[in-house]
Amino acid sequence: MIETKCPVCKKPIQHRSWYDSDVHMTVETHEECAGCGYECSWSYGRYCLAVGNFLMGYGHDVSFKTQKKIWKRFKRHLRKARRSFVRGYQVA
Ligand SMILES: [Zn+2]
Repeated sequence: MIETKCPVCKKPIQHRSWYDSDVHMTVETHEECAGCGYECSWSYGRYCLAVGNFLMGYGHDVSFKTQKKIWKRFKRHLRKARRSFVRGYQVA
């Protein structure tokens, strides 16, 4: 288990991954922040990305171009969530 930081609220979150020794590869990774709702998980070729009111999932059947588009959108939402979190924190 690896400890990492939430990209939105910078709280420590846990990065878990499962390694399948039968197929000799990581089959699942999971990152979730209970504080702000950030989630990035990958399970058997399916991604689930969530931040704020943004929620998106896609499978390995999605084209590389579309995947890039999804990640671009996800990162934009991450930045937005980070900004509003910082502002909210400073006000309080
Ligand atoms: Zn967070």
